[in-house]
Amino acid sequence: VKVPEGRWSWVEIDRGALRRNLRAYKSLLAPRQKLCCVVKADAYGHGAIECARVLHSAGADMFAVATVHEGVELREAGIQAPILILSEPPITAIPQLIEKNIMPTVYTIEFALAYGECAVRAGTVGKYHLAIETGMNRIGVHYADVLEFCRNINFHRGIQCDGVFTHFATAEDVAGWDYKLQCKRFEEAVRALEDAGFDCGTVHCDNTPATMLDPSTHYDMVRVGIGLYGLYPCDSSRSVVKLDPVMSVRARVTRTAHPAMGEGVSYGYTYRVPRTAVQICTLPIGYADGLSRTLSNRMEVLYRGERVRQVGNICMDQCMVAIQQTPIHQIPEAEYGDVMTIIGRDGDAEISADEMARLRGTINYEVVCDFGMRLDKVYL
Ligand code: PLP
Repeated sequence: VKVPEGRWSWVEIDRGALRRNLRAYKSLLAPRQKLCCVVKADAYGHGAIECARVLHSAGADMFAVATVHEGVELREAGIQAPILILSEPPITAIPQLIEKNIMPTVYTIEFALAYGECAVRAGTVGKYHLAIETGMNRIGVHYADVLEFCRNINFHRGIQCDGVFTHFATAEDVAGWDYKLQCKRFEEAVRALEDAGFDCGTVHCDNTPATMLDPSTHYDMVRVGIGLYGLYPCDSSRSVVKLDPVMSVRARVTRTAHPAMGEGVSYGYTYRVPRTAVQICTLPIGYADGLSRTLSNRMEVLYRGERVRQVGNICMDQCMVAIQQTPIHQIPEAEYGDVMTIIGRDGDAEISADEMARLRGTINYEVVCDFGMRLDKVYL
């Protein structure tokens, strides 16, 4: 691995794992069903441009992002596949959407008509996806109002519906009443549109858990995010396909020392050296890099395939690790430049994003997003 020059902490992105995960999802789909790869938030911290390149060459049919900026970034990097923004952007962004051929999600008449006007002026047709609100209560046209909504905008020659979709609130529990109700509302809304002769285009609703747990809702396309990055959205999905984690987080030791017994380590002295034979190693990674301060004194890192304790409060850009010998557990002391693993595998040991998420009281999605924000990325 070529370690970044500027700083001894980095995120490793395993492109092979990303490709394998994409193939695993393709294997769940019928040949006519499309795979939309969700690469919003910089591909959940994994780097949107590089991930989109890999995913596109491996067979992604479409990309979904959250913001206009994210869509433009992909276009400017040369990604030619269809790009969908998963919510309705501000009206002021419309000229950019038309210029870059990025599809918005639509759910207000004002936006739809302004989009159509701009498209006509540019001599083109603006494609969009219609979001249907079925129970997430976040975005979209209420499922009972979609027909009327479409009648109100359908006259416009500057716009064309490329797809209709909804989003599940409880897809981890596909046997549950809440999920089933959303399915029913979506199905009824789509049927009402089709019965009225409206061309819905691509019909889609599944995120990663729904894609894995309920083949009956794959429709024309699924939108997969977290699973592509090799992380399971819930325990019940683990048996469906084998996924490989794409992200590892590593750092090199920048200082070693043996503070005397009783010395405190880091801000506030939440850890004191219990006896003299403790080696304190400094790693150049902190809470501004995604290593949440709430993990202070509670997490472990891997060193030479063994778990060692993080000690003292995690700082903004650095943290400390203690290597402590015990009669049954003898780990060699670290040296300047030795690699430690914060997320990922080292020998037979592994610290997963799930383990860190549990410790933080959050979900694996947030753990990887956070590590993506500041650390350099190394693509394997
Ligand atoms: N579709 C929409 C509308 C989303 O907001 C998201 C992510 O939050 C996804 C799909 C992908 O979800 P997941 O990462 O669980 O596959």
